[in-house]
Amino acid sequence: MTKRWIQCGHAVIGHSPFVLHTDCVLVVENGVIQEVLKTSAVQRNPDQDWVDWSHCLVIPGFVNVHTHTTLVMVRGEAEDMGFAPAYTAGVPHGHDVSEDEAIALSRLGAYECLRFGSTTINDSYVHAHAVMPAMAELGMRVVGSSRIHDVDFSQVHLGQWHYDRAIGHQTMDQAVRLIEQVRQDPSGRLGVTINPHAPDTCSKDLLQGVARLQAETGYPVCTHLSQSEAENKTVLARDGMTPAELLDATGLLSDRLIAAHGMYLTDADLARIGRARIHLAHVPKGNATGGRIAPTRAMEAAGVQLALATDNMHGDMIEAMRWALNMGRIQAGCIDSLWNAWRVLEMATIAGARALQMDHRVGSLEVGKQADIVAIDLRVPNLQPAIQPVGALVHCGLGRDVSHVLVDGIDVVRDGELVCADASRILQDGRVAADALWARARNQM
Ligand SMILES: [Zn+2]
Repeated sequence: MTKRWIQCGHAVIGHSPFVLHTDCVLVVENGVIQEVLKTSAVQRNPDQDWVDWSHCLVIPGFVNVHTHTTLVMVRGEAEDMGFAPAYTAGVPHGHDVSEDEAIALSRLGAYECLRFGSTTINDSYVHAHAVMPAMAELGMRVVGSSRIHDVDFSQVHLGQWHYDRAIGHQTMDQAVRLIEQVRQDPSGRLGVTINPHAPDTCSKDLLQGVARLQAETGYPVCTHLSQSEAENKTVLARDGMTPAELLDATGLLSDRLIAAHGMYLTDADLARIGRARIHLAHVPKGNATGGRIAPTRAMEAAGVQLALATDNMHGDMIEAMRWALNMGRIQAGCIDSLWNAWRVLEMATIAGARALQMDHRVGSLEVGKQADIVAIDLRVPNLQPAIQPVGALVHCGLGRDVSHVLVDGIDVVRDGELVCADASRILQDGRVAADALWARARNQM
């Protein structure tokens, strides 16, 4: 690959802490950041592949640690019906979705994520063996697996939790086969996480099997945790403990766990997950849509590592940062010096990379890391006068302010347009798949 010189008006460099550089050049070669130089120190010549982002804020690509892209199929409707589509009657469910429909819908969800600056997503739903490569074709990194469960998901939205060993074996086999598939993937953009769906949809035996798979492979485990009162009640009735206690008892509660939501944790649970230093996939907008706020301040005080995610039905990490900041401030009842724009940018980037065990490669703009880079065009009214561009981005930015995205130094979004795929086709295919699924769902009612 050729060498590129990327001129940045402002760039967020390094991590712990991030430092805002003004008028600098990122030198990228073979997909890796080789140097960060002052613009005035670079001798420019006509043979260089020179990228002029002098009007932009340049940040690391977002690492969105918890998504179900296929679930764009229910957005605009399911948010007003129940706390999560799998538990909500009257909407299409994972077991209703064909492989082709999952591909079409996930590419629509992935398009939104990438167009709005997520260069890495951690995705779990159905047909992952086909969906993950289909999303990676857009140019992004996709880690994940099919959802592992032994509950019969065709009954959960009816309020019934029936467990079936055969379903557990089948979904574990899918996860194991996907590990082999990803190891052989030539694109280099796929990765593995192990995704048991939730403590209430996975039996204790199945979770112990997941723990053995993690011990054998070392991959992060991702799940939902105390997402609802129903989850807590089901686990209490079944196992006589809280979901956090169950994850602990099955050997999953560790710093290799990424748990989403955590809205219904007891004080003892908070202390327990804090001691284990788990990573929490904080989903502030999704939580708020259901009328809840996760106790992020208490989690952080207990030792939990916070990363950021959009979960399902939207993919805008800039919006997620703003929700995280504002929900944190609502909990504190004030503005404090620690819970600020820089903090949520860290949650949206390097903290997510750390959770996915990818922070040696991505999550910050540093010499030696992959060039996963996002440019935000500051020449828009909602970001001007951009006196403090990071503050302007978090408080007033929109996903569509992202103008360019590079993964491994290669353009995957240019001037707001996908480079590697036909966006109009993705929109059309997603719409057709969603229409078919909703037609079938309404017929079942
Ligand atoms: Zn989720």
